[in-house]
Amino acid sequence: MRKLLLHYLWRSPLTEAAPAPSEPALAELGAKVDQAARRRLGRSLSIREVDAGSCNGCELEIHALNNAFYDLERFGFHIVASPRHADVLLVTGPVTVNMREALERTYAATPDPKWVVAVGDCGRDGGVFAGSYACVGGVAAVIPVDLHIPGCPPNPIQLLEGLLALLQVQ
Ligand code: SF4
Repeated sequence: MRKLLLHYLWRSPLTEAAPAPSEPALAELGAKVDQAARRRLGRSLSIREVDAGSCNGCELEIHALNNAFYDLERFGFHIVASPRHADVLLVTGPVTVNMREALERTYAATPDPKWVVAVGDCGRDGGVFAGSYACVGGVAAVIPVDLHIPGCPPNPIQLLEGLLALLQVQ
């Protein structure tokens, strides 16, 4: 026991250092999204995240947008607690049978104008869960989708680029 304890005390951590985002590129991208949102909406963007059956990998990347590295709030975006306050629904995962109604009701509760972004490969067509008896399919199988951000999972920069594309195209 003592030997095992000493082994783990002296062993170096297994975790890797987090990749540092390019601060100037991030600031430029964040400012562009904020400008596009203000042009479209006259204010900053409010985002509601909906996990429709994800493995949680996409959630980790979305949560990273708010961590000390990316700090999404400084660009004026807000992750809101209710779809009633949202402009964008960021939907992850394949839609599971059990989450289908919740997703439909969330969409119905979001005021117009609203946009739906399907996040990750699962959001497109079910990804690695496609064909499962527990899944309906991708997000578009349940509600209209305006943009898909590919990846398994997409990283925070790809998420920001997706939001910018959404605001510029719509
Ligand atoms: S796209 Fe990848 S990370 Fe995202 S929910 Fe599917 S399996 Fe998980």
